[in-house]
Amino acid sequence: MQAFSYVRPTSLAEALAVLAREGEGARCLSGGTDLIVQLRERRRFANVVVDVKRIPDLNVLSFDPQTGAIIGAAVPCYRIYSHAALAAAYPGLMDAVKLIGGVAIQGRATLGGNVCTASPAGDSIPALMVHRAVVVIASARGTRTLALEDFFLGPGKTVLQPDELVVSFKLPPPPPGFGAAYLRFTPRNEMDIAVVGVGAAITVREGQIVDARIALGAVAPTPLLAREAAEVLIGKAPSPEAFEEAARAAQALARPITDVRGTAEQRRHLVGVLTRRALMQAAQRTTLYA
Ligand SMILES: Cc1cc2nc3c(=O)[nH]c(=O)nc-3n(C[C@H](O)[C@H](O)[C@H](O)COP(=O)(O)OP(=O)(O)OC[C@H]3O[C@@H](n4cnc5c(N)ncnc54)[C@H](O)[C@@H]3O)c2cc1C
Repeated sequence: MQAFSYVRPTSLAEALAVLAREGEGARCLSGGTDLIVQLRERRRFANVVVDVKRIPDLNVLSFDPQTGAIIGAAVPCYRIYSHAALAAAYPGLMDAVKLIGGVAIQGRATLGGNVCTASPAGDSIPALMVHRAVVVIASARGTRTLALEDFFLGPGKTVLQPDELVVSFKLPPPPPGFGAAYLRFTPRNEMDIAVVGVGAAITVREGQIVDARIALGAVAPTPLLAREAAEVLIGKAPSPEAFEEAARAAQALARPITDVRGTAEQRRHLVGVLTRRALMQAAQRTTLYA
């Protein structure tokens, strides 16, 4: 592995000063489950590794039924699914954080790391998208926020500037009649990367779908918010027929490739199956918030 220096700031201002000074040479480290591998394989380069786990702003984990959730970028998966109120409010995200790696990985891996690695197959991303997550980004120049679906530029590429880091994710509170789910297909049950991942969320009022989101992983250069597929559901009753129609629309939006884990044809088929199933599961969960 290349040599690098290591700093462990205890305040956001201190971390941002290092990023401003070091620019491209600095790399944030959260759980390290991606970064250490990336550095060892020389897929990423760092002069200075900035360990962000001790920064209070990145460790916030809160839920308020009126204002929603704030999940610090350095909060590991196990803390997220151990938070009972948060787990009940954001079932799609819970599906994803319980799938990432195995129990040992979930003790380290964070949403900040999963999102900033920007893998098209990152499991938390479609789930966060269907929960309408907003990314809070900070630099010494100030703070900005952005919808998660606008964060990705390509595989491993995001809108983050070298002097910026992700502080947290903000999720709006689930409205009455809300349900969500995240499903993925992997050849093995765990410790594998999604061949396809699908997040789905619907809000049902008086028997009609009034809001819907569908997000797809591993079928395009970036995780994809399938807006047009969700739109076909609006005004319809939650039913197998409506979900089938949305699933076909999601298949049409997917731009899968063939690689070692699956063919484009298999991936497109899986988008249909998983979209339908994720919508069914989201519908079953709407009763929890009726
Ligand atoms: C055995 C194994 C199994 C895995 N299984 C899965 C899986 O099932 N699903 C899945 O999606 N992933 C999986 N992964 C990948 C990895 O665990 C996840 O992507 C994890 O969420 C990364 O989080 P981290 O905190 O470890 O990130 P790190 O390794 O600390 O960081 C990852 C990247 O994000 C950057 N970064 C981290 N925090 C910030 C921040 N706050 N601001 C800006 N940049 C930041 C780092 O510089 C680095 O480039 C697996 C990895 C291993 C080793």
